[in-house]
Amino acid sequence: MKVFKFGGASVKDAAAVRNVSRILSLYKGDQICVVVSAMGKTTNSMELLVQALWERNELKYNELVDERLQFHLSILNELFSEKHYSIYKTVEDLFENLKNKFQQPISENYDFEYDQIVSLGEVISSLIVTSFLKEQGHLVEWADSRKLIRTNNLYREGNVDWQKTEELIKSKFLPEFKKVSIQITQGFIGHTSEGFTTTLGREGSDYTAGIFAYCCDAQDVTIWKDVPGMLNADPKWFDNTVKLDSISFKEAIELSYYGATVIHPKTIKPLQNKGIPLYVKSFIDPQADGTVIQESTEKDHLVPSFIFKMNQLLVSLTPKDFSFIIEENLSDIFNRLAKMNAKINLMQNSALSFSIALDRDKINIEKLLETFQDTFNVRYNENLELVTVRHFDQATIDRVTEGKEIIVEQKTKQTVRFLMKDLTNS
Ligand code: ASP
Ligand code: MG
Repeated sequence: MKVFKFGGASVKDAAAVRNVSRILSLYKGDQICVVVSAMGKTTNSMELLVQALWERNELKYNELVDERLQFHLSILNELFSEKHYSIYKTVEDLFENLKNKFQQPISENYDFEYDQIVSLGEVISSLIVTSFLKEQGHLVEWADSRKLIRTNNLYREGNVDWQKTEELIKSKFLPEFKKVSIQITQGFIGHTSEGFTTTLGREGSDYTAGIFAYCCDAQDVTIWKDVPGMLNADPKWFDNTVKLDSISFKEAIELSYYGATVIHPKTIKPLQNKGIPLYVKSFIDPQADGTVIQESTEKDHLVPSFIFKMNQLLVSLTPKDFSFIIEENLSDIFNRLAKMNAKINLMQNSALSFSIALDRDKINIEKLLETFQDTFNVRYNENLELVTVRHFDQATIDRVTEGKEIIVEQKTKQTVRFLMKDLTNS
């Protein structure tokens, strides 16, 4: 059995859904678990919808519900020639329920409400894709992840109960392949033991593909994307990117740790545990090779990879009493950062100061000062960029540091990192 994952961009409109059908036609004879995301930018608009519900803004809420209904109806209109198809009624009923939700009592837990509503993006998408594939003659059935993936009650960041999930998938999902060759299910969502819907965190659909593959002992997983595979840099920041043909699980985890965003980081571990290869392939050119992520580290060093984080803030903390930076004040600093929910991208210390780089747009500077000012002098430097190069050589270093002032440099055997100021912009 194979697992395919189609993200939001690969089901963003009717043409994209038709393309999913075409890709599946290339795999006649295979059993395929298809994991789909919400269509296009639906998750973002569902988030706005929850906010409107929370703020008791009925006008905005109704507007947003209607806008999403129209978006999905226009896709249906392009996919189905006649309105008698039951999928129209299914989708309209779902939106009717959503509309009525405004009049019903809501819980005091924002994250709970978020999961009950935002998850519908995936539900609707998977229903539309299933009914279109049926119409195209595929032997396909819809499967409900909300009955298969079991999580704890941590809404918006559900932790998977692997044992229970494996039991559910083996007993309720796998046997269905005796009747059909394709099952379509939703990424990103699961359920608690009480039967409430949970989500696995933004961009969690890749992870769902990993969960199904692990529990089914799949032969491989393919994530279909609008790029030819994993590239050695984000084309947004870099010309002449190169596709990575093959990298190891370990390398994929390293790249995502430093900020590469091609695959959700949680996806890799379950696949690595069972040695299930992960392909990243182009839905525009499905016959092309793409990238394979697998056990062997043999090819990891062949192409240097670049990871850029722009808009960095460098914060330097110096104890006011001139004490050295040692274990006690380090643990104090980390405690305070954890309380602020700050995510550190880079850190460095000297005898008298400790420095960290953070995403500027995730940090409230006033709060930061408030958190540290009692015992530390706090200095900060804005508008920096952090570049990480894996498998570097001198030519790649020269290339990324040209026209930049290097503020912090860190080098290990495989990885070099520069926190820099762009001299051409300042
Ligand atoms: N639809 C969800 C999101 O946009 C999950 C996913 O697409 O991976 O975050
Ligand atoms: Mg996505």
